[in-house]
Amino acid sequence: MGEKILSIVVPCYNEEAVLTAFYEEIRKTAEVISDRVSCELLFIDDGSGDATLSIIRSLAESDERIKYVSFSRNFGKEAAIYAGLQHATGDYVVLMDADLQHPPEFLPQMLDGILLGSYDSVAMRRVDRKGEKRVRSWFSRRFYRINQKISGVDIPEGATDYRMMTRQMADAVLSMPEVNRFTKGIFTWVGFRTLWIPYHNVERSAGSSKWTFWGLVKYSMNGIVAFSTMPLAIASILGALCCAVSVLMAVWFVLKTLIWGDPVPGFPTLITVILFLGGVQLLMIGILGQYFSKMYLEIKHRPMYIAKEQNTAERKEKN
Ligand code: UDP
Ligand code: MG
Repeated sequence: MGEKILSIVVPCYNEEAVLTAFYEEIRKTAEVISDRVSCELLFIDDGSGDATLSIIRSLAESDERIKYVSFSRNFGKEAAIYAGLQHATGDYVVLMDADLQHPPEFLPQMLDGILLGSYDSVAMRRVDRKGEKRVRSWFSRRFYRINQKISGVDIPEGATDYRMMTRQMADAVLSMPEVNRFTKGIFTWVGFRTLWIPYHNVERSAGSSKWTFWGLVKYSMNGIVAFSTMPLAIASILGALCCAVSVLMAVWFVLKTLIWGDPVPGFPTLITVILFLGGVQLLMIGILGQYFSKMYLEIKHRPMYIAKEQNTAERKEKN
């Protein structure tokens, strides 16, 4: 057994169909790397409504390496990741999905990156999206492009949450107290040296994806609002443009009336302009509202999650 500990953090939401299979796989992989690290398995039950928690409980009874925290309701994967990093006691922490879409056989290679390659983190990147709905892939790709353009936080295409990191980096992530968490952006923001390993997408082994289309749209909007203030600047730019155009138009109309003495025609133009400006104003108020509502939620300082049951304590800072 190695003396160093690797914490495997697994957010689970209604994963009864895959959990046992996942545990079996992890157990095998833990064997393979046992000469370098000993493993701790930390399940975060994100308020599942099915048998997930009782499966975790019975696994924990038979294997003392298993720890768990169970939320009082569904708080979302981001909150589960936060709780996982908080409770993980290991020198290294790896985040993994429960559905075997993050294949455990990469763990040895990831560990090498940190132990031998002296990287602070090793993350997996999907090079294809086999088995995923076309529309979803298309929108995902667009999102990462747009996000990168406007927020400047560079998230590689196909980046997944499957990531191993040192305790130091995990603590850096925990030091960001925002409630509106966009973990992929946070990982980039905290810096450190990251090794990206490409792999082919694996389909979920059982159960179904927890994401709906609108869920993903909301997630992407959050991602943008969380890391960029550029949409707020759009209002000023559009405002300035509109002012410039209106001054030019005023000059043009005065000259036209003076030279040709035309009566002022063009009610359609007027209405179009009014509607256009009204639209732009509402849009900008909407953007303001997005930021405002996020600020409102942050200011309340609500906890990121509420744990109802757990067999492990929050990790205390080792001095
Ligand atoms: N998950 C979670 N809370 C949620 C939604 C998902 O903890 O509200 C977990 C889920 O159990 C899984 C991981 O996050 O372990 C990824 O979810 P999923 O497989 O549904 O997402 P996809 O792979 O389709 O992106
Ligand atoms: Mg999945």
